[in-house]
Amino acid sequence: MNIELKHDLAQLDQILEDVKKRSLDFLTHLNDLPTYASDQQTKPEVLEKDGLGTPQTLEKFQEKYQKLMVASPGPRYWGFVTGGATPASIAGDWLTAVFDQNTQGTKGAGDVSAIVEKETIRLLCQLLNLPEAFNGGFVTGATMSNFSGLAVGRQWAGKKLGIDVSREGMSSEIVVMAATPHSSVIKSLSMLGFGSNNLLKINVLPAREAMDIADLEAKLVLHKGKSVIVNCSAGTVNTVDFDDIAAIAALKKQYDFWLHIDAAFGGFAACSPANSHLLSGWEQADSITIDCHKWMNVPYDSAVILVRKQHDRLQVETFQNTNAPYLGDPSENFSYLNFLPENSRRFRALPAWFGLVAYGKSGYQWIVENSIARAKELGEYIVESAFFELAAPVRLNVVCFRLLSTDRTMEFLDKMNKSGKVFMTPTTLDGKTCIRAAFVNYRTSIVDIAIAKKEMEAAYHFVVNR
Ligand SMILES: *Cc1c(COP(=O)(O)O)cnc(C)c1O
Repeated sequence: MNIELKHDLAQLDQILEDVKKRSLDFLTHLNDLPTYASDQQTKPEVLEKDGLGTPQTLEKFQEKYQKLMVASPGPRYWGFVTGGATPASIAGDWLTAVFDQNTQGTKGAGDVSAIVEKETIRLLCQLLNLPEAFNGGFVTGATMSNFSGLAVGRQWAGKKLGIDVSREGMSSEIVVMAATPHSSVIKSLSMLGFGSNNLLKINVLPAREAMDIADLEAKLVLHKGKSVIVNCSAGTVNTVDFDDIAAIAALKKQYDFWLHIDAAFGGFAACSPANSHLLSGWEQADSITIDCHKWMNVPYDSAVILVRKQHDRLQVETFQNTNAPYLGDPSENFSYLNFLPENSRRFRALPAWFGLVAYGKSGYQWIVENSIARAKELGEYIVESAFFELAAPVRLNVVCFRLLSTDRTMEFLDKMNKSGKVFMTPTTLDGKTCIRAAFVNYRTSIVDIAIAKKEMEAAYHFVVNR
C-alpha cells in the first residue's frame, strides 16, 4: 500500500478526532464567523509527487482556505434561500461518507440504502401532510427536482400526442405554462429541449407574483388539443407568493394537463398549521419539487422529486438506463437507476432521515414558525423605519425591501454586506432594485434581528451622509 494511505489507515482514530475537533470549532463559533470575505484570492499550486497525508492536509486546508470561508450556514446569512444544517443532519451526512453506499436500489444487490430512501420519502410525505400517492427520490437540488418533474411531464404530454418523447425525441406540440417560475425551471426547459424562450407566460394578479387563474383558463382554452404542462409556484423567492393551487388543480379535470408544483422551500409551510392552507390542493399535483437543503436544514446537496405513483411507468420510460424494453410492473421491479436522472448516487437520503427521526413533526413546525416570526419582526421594523420600506408584504419567511428616500440601494447593500455581520442579496421587483432577506436557518434568533437592524442603520447613514 502507498505509504501515506498506510499511515492514514493506521491513525484513523486521530484523524477522525481531529475532524471532530475542527468541526466543533467551526460549529460553536458559527454565530460569530463573518458572513462576508473581502478577499478570496488564493495562489494556484502544483500537485506534488508525494502527498502530505491527512493530518497535514487538514492543517493546510485550515490555513489556506478555511479562513476565506463565509458563515453561510450561520444565523445571519439571509441571501438567496440558504438553509443551515441541524446536528442530526450533520451526523447523517458524516455517516453517508463513511458508509459510502451507492444508492441504485438494484434488485438483489442487498442495497438497504434504497430501502432507507423510500422510507425517508414516506416520512417526508407525512411531515408535509401529503397522501401515500407519491413515489419519490433524492436528487442534488431543486433544480434537478424541477428538471425531473418536468421530464416525466414531458413524457406524459408526448404520450397524449402519440409520441414517446424519450425514444423519438421532442415534440413542439407540448406547451409549458407558468406565471413566475424560478430561474431553474427556465433552465430545465432549455435542458429538456423545450427551449427556454418557449415558456408561455401566464399573467400575474395585480401587485402579486401569483398566477391570474382567469388568464390561465383562457390560455388553456386557446391550446385545447395541444399537450400542456402547468408549472405552479408554491413560494416565489422574492415575495413567497403562492399560486392558487386548489383553483389550478380544479381546472385539471376539464383541461387535462400535467401539474408540476415547485415547492422547493414553500412546501415546508405544510409543517405550520397556521400556514398550511397555502398548499391546499397540492396533493392533486402530478409532480412536486421539495428542497431539503433549504428549510429542512439538511446539508447540501439534498432535494426530492415526488411523482404520483400512477405515473411510475412514465417515470421509468423517462429515466430507464438500459435499452431493453421495460418489462413488468415498476413497483415490483423497482430500481432508482431507472427512476432518476443519475445512476450512481451517494446515500443521499440519510441526512434527511436523521433529521426527520431526530426532530419529528414538532421540530420542523418549530423551525418553520421560528423563521416566519423572525421575518415578521424584521418586516415590522421596516414598516416603522424612517429609512426603509417594504417592497411587498411579508407573506411568509422572506422580507423584500428597499431604501425609502434614495436610489442608493445597491451601495447600501454593499456597505451592509461588507460589515460581515449580516448578508442579504439584491433582486428586481416591478422594475425596481430591492433587497431580500430570506429566513430558513434554525439558528436565527431575535438577537440576530437586533444585530441586523444596527448594521442596516449604520450602512444607511454611511451611504446617505457620504
Ligand atoms: C432554490 C430554489 C430552486 C433551485 O434549487 P437548487 O437547490 O438551488 O437547485 C428552485 N425553485 C425554488 C422555488 C427555489 O427556491
